[in-house]
Amino acid sequence: MPTSTTVPVSVPMPQIPRQRRSPEEVAAAAPVEGAKRVLLAAPRGYCAGVDRAVIAVEKALEHYEAPVYVRKEIVHNRHVVSELEARGAVFVEETDEVPEGELVVFSAHGVSPAVVQSAEDRNLQTIDATCPLVTKVHREAVRFARQGNEILLIGHTGHEEVEGTYGEAPEATTVVNNPAEARTVEVKDPDKLIWLSQTTLSVDETMETVQILRERFPNLQDPPSDDICYATSNRQAAIKEIAPQADLVIVVGSSNSSNSVRLVEVALEYGAKAGHRVDFANEVDEAWFEGVATVGVTSGASVPDVLVQDVLKLLADYGYVDQEEIVTAEEDILFSLPKELRAKLKESGDSSGGPGGRVKNNQES
Ligand code: SF4
Repeated sequence: MPTSTTVPVSVPMPQIPRQRRSPEEVAAAAPVEGAKRVLLAAPRGYCAGVDRAVIAVEKALEHYEAPVYVRKEIVHNRHVVSELEARGAVFVEETDEVPEGELVVFSAHGVSPAVVQSAEDRNLQTIDATCPLVTKVHREAVRFARQGNEILLIGHTGHEEVEGTYGEAPEATTVVNNPAEARTVEVKDPDKLIWLSQTTLSVDETMETVQILRERFPNLQDPPSDDICYATSNRQAAIKEIAPQADLVIVVGSSNSSNSVRLVEVALEYGAKAGHRVDFANEVDEAWFEGVATVGVTSGASVPDVLVQDVLKLLADYGYVDQEEIVTAEEDILFSLPKELRAKLKESGDSSGGPGGRVKNNQES
């Protein structure tokens, strides 16, 4: 029940106000043994592909006449999408919702050739913000299909990235969602077979799926390099380090963010006693703190760090003042902005959109 000692929560966008039990009430419900502390994962948050895609929309808003349409969520984060909407971006599900001749930005998750064609048919101007690491998987799909291979695409049916990659070679591709499907999938020729994957999967589960496939199809070829991207792997490696010590892990990220959802699963698998995902600090339930000494915190690759800072502030209010960053890798990857946008920026004399377009490690959105 609300009391006079409830703790206010800072949130970056309008939310339904909620009053919390006070730290004293939580402590009375379940005392904590040992010192309270936070282990903060690094790397966490924005990856190079997300940063590039968000900047692409920001720059398009600056340099093109409104409206700027964006097909699908530019990245899977509610806060980022709301902020861009507030600045004038119009998010649509499909290109046929964009009036003929207007500008549309393709999201970081990539699009199939059918979507590109549909945009061309409508004379749309396009900016392709597909992450270069997703484009790499698209190119692999095209190349291996042309060489007569059948592709087993490990990924989640219905995810935009999988739809885009599948669309590069639909007649040659079968989606394998999980290890269970690897046990039953049928192929045409087991000697002309390669696996590819979505970029944001659990590394461990994907390897399990591949192992099952290889037991069934010994001549299965590997992709030329890892499809699961550096950002996904690094964020999972960091939470694996923290999880065994954590009574609770909080992952900041949206429910449709594959890599954020995977982080909760990985944390639980590696020994966290509890794990929850939240979009915003005010979704954290103070009941999660009952009896909890060590809290692990991380965030998905589409999450601006300001949202993590809000969670840390809330944790400090509940006595988790000792906050240590556990660094398992350094990241310095930056991608150039989409070529259509670079040309436009050059034309306008805007030199701020160099590689990455933003100062390294500045994760404010
Ligand atoms: S998570 Fe990986 S593949 Fe996805 S946008 Fe980020 S870097 Fe690119």
